[in-house]
Amino acid sequence: MDVGTAVGLRSAGRTWTLGSRGICYLGIAAIAWVTRVEVGAWTYHYSDQGDYTWEQARNYCQTFFTDLVAIQNKQEIEFLNESLPFHGRYYWIGIRKLGGIWTWVGTRKALTKEAENWAVGEPNNRRSNQDCVEIYIKRQQESGKWNDEPCNRRKKALCYQASCQPFPCSQRGECVETIGSYRCECYPGFYGPECEDVVQCPKLEPKGVRMNCSHPYGDFSYNSTCVVGCQEGFERRGVGTLRCLASQRWSADTPTCTAISCPVLSTPDRGELNCSHLHGDFAFGSTCAFSCQTGFVLMGPESRECTVTGTWTGDAPRCQAISCPVLGAPDRGELNCSHLHGDFTFGSTCAFSCQTGFVLTGPESRECTAMGTWTGDAPRCKAISCPVLSAPDRGELNCSHLHGDFAFGSTCAFSCQTGFVLMGPESRECTVTGTWTGDAPRCQAISCPVLSAPYQGKLNCSHLHGDFTFGSTCAFSCQTGFVLMGPESRECTAMGTWTGDAPRCQAISCPVLSAPDRGELNCSHLHGDFTFGSTCAFSCQTGFVLTGPESRECTAMGTWTGGAPQCKAISCPVLSAPDRGELNCSHLHGDFAFGSTCAFSCQTGFVLMGPESRECTVTGTWTGDAPRCQAISCPVLEAPSRGQLSCSHVHGNFTYNSTCTFSCEEGFVQMGAEVLQCAATGNWTRRPPVCAEDGAVLKQVLAYSSGTALGVASLVLSGTLIALLVKRLSDREEKKKLLNPTSDLGSPGTFTNAAYNANL
Ligand code: CA
Repeated sequence: MDVGTAVGLRSAGRTWTLGSRGICYLGIAAIAWVTRVEVGAWTYHYSDQGDYTWEQARNYCQTFFTDLVAIQNKQEIEFLNESLPFHGRYYWIGIRKLGGIWTWVGTRKALTKEAENWAVGEPNNRRSNQDCVEIYIKRQQESGKWNDEPCNRRKKALCYQASCQPFPCSQRGECVETIGSYRCECYPGFYGPECEDVVQCPKLEPKGVRMNCSHPYGDFSYNSTCVVGCQEGFERRGVGTLRCLASQRWSADTPTCTAISCPVLSTPDRGELNCSHLHGDFAFGSTCAFSCQTGFVLMGPESRECTVTGTWTGDAPRCQAISCPVLGAPDRGELNCSHLHGDFTFGSTCAFSCQTGFVLTGPESRECTAMGTWTGDAPRCKAISCPVLSAPDRGELNCSHLHGDFAFGSTCAFSCQTGFVLMGPESRECTVTGTWTGDAPRCQAISCPVLSAPYQGKLNCSHLHGDFTFGSTCAFSCQTGFVLMGPESRECTAMGTWTGDAPRCQAISCPVLSAPDRGELNCSHLHGDFTFGSTCAFSCQTGFVLTGPESRECTAMGTWTGGAPQCKAISCPVLSAPDRGELNCSHLHGDFAFGSTCAFSCQTGFVLMGPESRECTVTGTWTGDAPRCQAISCPVLEAPSRGQLSCSHVHGNFTYNSTCTFSCEEGFVQMGAEVLQCAATGNWTRRPPVCAEDGAVLKQVLAYSSGTALGVASLVLSGTLIALLVKRLSDREEKKKLLNPTSDLGSPGTFTNAAYNANL
């Protein structure tokens, strides 16, 4: 095997880094390094015996040198372009397309845009498999530039060899190539010729913290890394990962752990919050318990805990008013609720009311209590009650109840039994005021016409349901003397009519009566001709008197009271003849009875004083008074002037057979007879005498007689006597009566002055 010829040394910016797999890596030389690596040395080699595919070329380089070159900068390119010989197929370098990306195979890093050094028009990937890279060395154009080529092309392998061996400088520094040797430039944190010493940092011993350290180079040495963690629920303040720096200090201050904060909780409305804070206000470990006011129930967790994540367990609870069962309006009523905290919850108040005609029984309102129950019981709307109705006597009641027995809406119809008629409304209704319409009806027995007792009869009714109504029964009877014609009783039917016809009382008949002889019959018929109650009065003609009953009556037996009467002439008292007298009677119907006439007469010297006859009248009395026979009177005599008179009377003063004697005073002369006697004719037997004076008797007579004929006549008849008489007459006016007597004494006794004077 040919070993490539070293083409020269050059102080270029190259360093060798030992890879973990013992592969030399080509690093990038910064400008600052260039001067330093001047002392470093590496060599380029190429295969001068044959050409290789890219793979073969790399294998060649890795076998005898380090690897295919990794060209990094233009200086290196220029060096290679100058140093290497021209080869027609040029040289493979350590770039290859891996996975479609141009990659430095030594470091397996992608080719950066800045490092690209492609020839113009390259890479062109002409046949789609130009995955390896060649470098034009000493080409006429584009010399030193790159071109992509198929990897199976055969070209020279361009290798390089590093001075530093694998794993140099304890792998803690860079191996700097020097001529024939190397030196270690320790990475920060390391020191010593082979970088075997490590920088120490202060030992970390934090409290209350968890620390997990890795000490790649020794406890708390360079690059020791401590990850500081906090216990669950705690939050780190500060950097979490501390690294021991080459400056012997930690990369940051030791962090601390504080409890993780949770959001501040607030008290739920209508509730309370009670927190216990273990590590700080509202921080990990804090526990808050919730409670609610009376009447409210907690919805959500009773307590919440601040978790390690800074959040509270559970959701925020709230205080919800305790629910009461939902209330409904009562039947026929309404519900009016006011909700303080929510529908039908604690504090809700529901008022109840009823429709017209209904009244609320139970509470007027209910309240939802903290117990979730309602105060009071459920009210009901009850139809307003009307008084219970009962069927009218003798009737029926038929009610329909809409809302309850005898309550608002109830309607009751009334009817009556047969024979009864409804008085009042046919139906009544219970109104909203709890009263019934109309008045209570009643069943009134159907009326029949009022019956009256038959004439002369009696009516005896028994009224079952009312006067002369259905069911009434009337029995008829007649008074004594009457007999019933027709039904004995009648009954008021349901039709309002009476059974049968009206009966009557007929008077019982008696035999027909007739008038008695000389009499009359006068009947009054109360009930009918000659029937019970008829009364017949009997009477007789004038002068006749009834013997027997004056009247007869038709009795209830049909017989007449008493016997048949007769008419008998009326009796007058038996007359007897007056003293000095005689009686002569004629009797028409019987002795001294009606029609009898009795004539009276007197003896001589007596005159009949009273009626000459008497008749028996219808009254049973005699006409006139009983006559008597009186002595005939003569004119009464008086004593003459200047004289005296002395009489003796046998039958009476100045009557038949009376005797009077005259006398004159001294100085006077009696002129005429001394004694006079009253004769049967009523005349005195003689003229009475006068007591005369001597002298002018005649002169007085003349002076007086001028006015009267009587005076003339008297003058003619006698001289002084008459003149004396007239003078006396003028003194006594009453003498006129004596001179003109009445006719009472009758003709036999007529006693006139003329006659008297004539008799003189
Ligand atoms: Ca190409």
